[in-house]
Amino acid sequence: MPQAYDPNNIFAKILRGEIPCKKIYEDEVALCFHDVAPQAPVHALVIPKGEYQSFSDFTLKASSKEVCGFFQAVQRSIEALKLEAGGYRLLSNHGEHAGQEVPHFHVHICGGGHLGKMISRS
Ligand code: 5GP
Repeated sequence: MPQAYDPNNIFAKILRGEIPCKKIYEDEVALCFHDVAPQAPVHALVIPKGEYQSFSDFTLKASSKEVCGFFQAVQRSIEALKLEAGGYRLLSNHGEHAGQEVPHFHVHICGGGHLGKMISRS
């Protein structure tokens, strides 16, 4: 991971309202919106409003209030998407080996149908 948070990453621009998103849920610590290139029938992203590059950066540096609030926001997003009954998958990529594209911490929520194998190395 780079040393410093890049304030020009795409999710920072979405948080500043410079780029539109299809919002699903928002509160004081987090924003959830549809992924622009869905990999499942339902594919959403939840991001914290603070400047954190990845899961590790977030859990190491964010306050307990932010960490707790963020995961509650993930649950609220799942409820808004009505995914609990059918099931869903949460995923977060950190760094090069995981193929993280956007250097602002995010959790993917995937559901809306059978998701297949958990990990593809292709
Ligand atoms: P990563 O590979 O970093 O875990 O996932 C980044 C995700 O962000 C990808 O699934 C990609 O489709 C999504 N994404 C990239 N740019 C945009 C954008 O401008 N808007 C939205 N809604 N999603 C984006």
